[in-house]
Amino acid sequence: MNLVELMRYTSDEESAEKYLKEQGILKSFHECPYCHGLRINRVRRVKYKCYTCNREWGVRRDSILEGLRVPFTKFLIAIKLFEIDTSVREAAKQLGLAYNTVYNIHTLIRKAILATDSDASSFSGEIEMDESYFGGEERGGVAGVRQGKSRCSGSWNEVARSR
Ligand SMILES: [Zn+2]
Repeated sequence: MNLVELMRYTSDEESAEKYLKEQGILKSFHECPYCHGLRINRVRRVKYKCYTCNREWGVRRDSILEGLRVPFTKFLIAIKLFEIDTSVREAAKQLGLAYNTVYNIHTLIRKAILATDSDASSFSGEIEMDESYFGGEERGGVAGVRQGKSRCSGSWNEVARSR
């Protein structure tokens, strides 16, 4: 994602949420996670409600964003700042967030990249990407071990590739 696209996706929370869903970072709910009923709807902006069992759940449920109290727009900007190697301290300043919050976001992004990476199937053409992500030859051992399962997908792939 370049800065122009970032501006579009961060124009409001709805656009940011839509983007995170398209990338599979937020889950798209088509049925109730409790009773599997299909009569669900959005209520109060950030929740879903099931009209079969009357239970509600947040849009962040079952995603890495569960428990993170940061707007989706700021989360997307945080990903971009991570991508361009901004320090936690500087990112916190730019986002108007606490240092610890940004530190947690960076940890989440790293975990997500690694998780996506190790789940994916073999794709030798992208080994180079792994090596650059892990800092090139001086850490070739790490990249070497990871060869053969180096494919990411979605935005984490983008993040990994750009580093
Ligand atoms: Zn239900």
